[in-house]
Order: sequence, then C-alpha cells, then structure tokens
Amino acid sequence: MTKDRRDKIKDVIDDLNIEQDLSFPENSVVVAADRLGVPVKIAKFKDETIAGLLDYGDQENDIGPAIFVSSQDAEKKRNFTIAHEIGHLLLHADNGAGRLKVDRHDVQNLKTKSITEEEADYFAASLLVPGHRLKEIMFKSRMHKWDLINFCSDYFNVSKSVISNRLKWINF
Ligand SMILES: [Zn+2]
Repeated sequence: MTKDRRDKIKDVIDDLNIEQDLSFPENSVVVAADRLGVPVKIAKFKDETIAGLLDYGDQENDIGPAIFVSSQDAEKKRNFTIAHEIGHLLLHADNGAGRLKVDRHDVQNLKTKSITEEEADYFAASLLVPGHRLKEIMFKSRMHKWDLINFCSDYFNVSKSVISNRLKWINF
C-alpha cells in the first residue's frame, strides 16, 4: 500500500469520526455502523468459510447497505469484520462484482492479499485501534510487548493479531 493511500484512509477515518462524533474504543463499531445508517446482523452462514458480507444495497430501489457477520466468530473477530466491511463501503464504493461483497476467513488469513482487502484491513485496524491511543498506552505503561498486546486486545476489543499488526504499522 502506498503512503498516499494510507494518508487517504486516515482522512476517511478522521472525517468519519468528526462527522459521526465517534471515538474508539469508547464507541463500539456497531455504533459506528448505526450512525452511518448501516444495520449489522449476526448471521449463521451455511458456508462456514464466510466471515462477513457487505450488501451495498440498491440505490435505484432505495435499499441501503447492510453488514452481516458470522455468528461462529468471537466478538473481537466480529468487530474487526464489521470495521473491515465499513472500510469497503467507504473506500471501495464500486465493488465491481455486483451488490454483494463476500469476505472469507481464508482470504483474511492470506499473506498476500488483493489491494482492496489490504486497504479494508488497514482501515479496520486504524479505526478500531487509533494510533495516538495505542502510542499513549505504549509510552505511559511501558509494558513488555506481550503484556501490551494482551492488554490492548481487551482494551480495544480486537484480537491479539490485530494489535500485533497495528504495532508493526506504527513501527513499534
Ligand atoms: Zn474484504
């Protein structure tokens, strides 16, 4: 991902937080979706490889977007998936593949991802784990890395792997 794209994503997040009066982790990602007028539904997918679905809706027929997340996943994982789908909605308005965007667990775990998947992940991690909040905890607490990851995983309500990646992105 280029620095231009990262800066663009940061701007989209800043605008979202200001326009919808949001801050994380004080607000949950479900509140963020709600303020955007996007319902979030926890669904039991027949296909268990699916982590989440974004329905872009149908503007012509006045149908708004909606997010569906897998009931099989733990809350921390669902939070990330919801934020990831909000990322697609705000960054990738043109899905290019019809009305539905399907996100699967195996794709989310791939080492090499498509640029849109990478961007949605970066959006989700940056939204849910704001850099300045993470840095504040790092410098004030002076915890060792694994204690920091455990603490932040609960504090920001995301999985440990999200915190670990976020620390890499902010060069910890
Ligand atoms: Zn995705």
